[in-house]
Amino acid sequence: MKRVAVLSVHTSPLEQPGTGDAGGMNVYIVETATRMARRGIAVEIFTRATSSELPPVAELAPGVKVRHVVAGPFEGLGKEELPGQLCAFTAGVLRAEARHEPGHYDVVHSHYWLSGQVGWLARERWAVPLVHTAHTLAKVKNLALAADDTPEPRMRVIGEEQVVAEADRLVANTDVEAAELVKLYDADPSKVLVVPPGVDLERFTPGDRDGARAALGLRPESVVLAFVGRIQPLKAPDVLLRAAAEMVARDPGLRARLVVLVVGGPSGSGMKTPEELVRLAAELRISDVVRFMPPQGGEALARVYRAADVVAVPSYNESFGLVALEAQACGTPVVAAAVGGLPVAVRDWVSGALVDSHEPGAWARVLTSIALNPACREELASNAVGHARRFSWDRTTDSLLAGYAEARDVFREEVIA
Ligand code: UDP
Repeated sequence: MKRVAVLSVHTSPLEQPGTGDAGGMNVYIVETATRMARRGIAVEIFTRATSSELPPVAELAPGVKVRHVVAGPFEGLGKEELPGQLCAFTAGVLRAEARHEPGHYDVVHSHYWLSGQVGWLARERWAVPLVHTAHTLAKVKNLALAADDTPEPRMRVIGEEQVVAEADRLVANTDVEAAELVKLYDADPSKVLVVPPGVDLERFTPGDRDGARAALGLRPESVVLAFVGRIQPLKAPDVLLRAAAEMVARDPGLRARLVVLVVGGPSGSGMKTPEELVRLAAELRISDVVRFMPPQGGEALARVYRAADVVAVPSYNESFGLVALEAQACGTPVVAAAVGGLPVAVRDWVSGALVDSHEPGAWARVLTSIALNPACREELASNAVGHARRFSWDRTTDSLLAGYAEARDVFREEVIA
């Protein structure tokens, strides 16, 4: 394996995750691409140019190039408008490859269905296998929508079905996602690879909780609950706010100590949500308890995890949930909804807890029993670190490379022959 083309049409690996369309997929691409490059593989990531200022090619890390493909107006194009730009994007990708000798790339790896549509054609033209990672699936999302969320359009469902049929290998985060690909999308089980994502264990380490709190202006005796992620109905930050209101209603003395951190920016159908969350906090009479913070990067994000007694992941669906792993790696127990990949990311009553509903009362009970019970919290916290260490981006990268090699061998034998 010498060269890998990675397709990431709708979001750039150069963006700060935690707002808009940038989230776990961006982290996944950056972490695996840089590790592939360290193993001597040249990685070229194609993404849509979203500003005229962007150079055609940028270096993300040694051995990892980001190619900015012009497809449609630079700014102001929503994700829902991107299907109309796929032809232009594909043309840009094919032109970039045409400048090289034939056989430039060994494999094409597409992320999210929009990229899968482009990868499908690149596969045919370049005679290389297509490996596809969906990251989220429309049919799965539509089965578990928040009350105020908009269903994913039929266009996406059809597009995903096509990519599932055309790809040589489909990468799923967990066995649950693999089963969904087979059951809901009729994927050929022999094409599905389960590759768990990882966590950066050098950046997300346990640390000085009081120091982290001091840096955030929080007191050592505060009870700190945190939500980290893109603010959208699917992620259900409102469930944490409602649960916090219940906790205060049950124990009024807690108000002076409770802090709910909501970290992240607006995204997708939740573009209005931060303001709605601010309003919801006021309606619930907990504005004094809730603190909103813009997306955090680098050490600042690790500080948020360390400062929290518990990190909550109340999502309606999550194909994995990197935030859950990152928080645990920092020694913070996670209370998560028992959906999608979260039961793999969190070990129930070992490294955190899983809640089988989105009912605020149930969340308030579980959050209280951990955050207000130091012995329980400490035990979960120490197990959380060990659990997170079972995941690593190096292992994810090794599995992806094994999948690429296998796909290439089968492709040569069966498709080219
Ligand atoms: N993230 C971040 N800063 C923030 C909020 C989130 O860097 O303020 C990152 C976070 O570290 C994680 C990713 O965004 O790696 C979110 O991934 P996750 O799988 O939890 O959710 P997704 O965005 O894929 O739905």
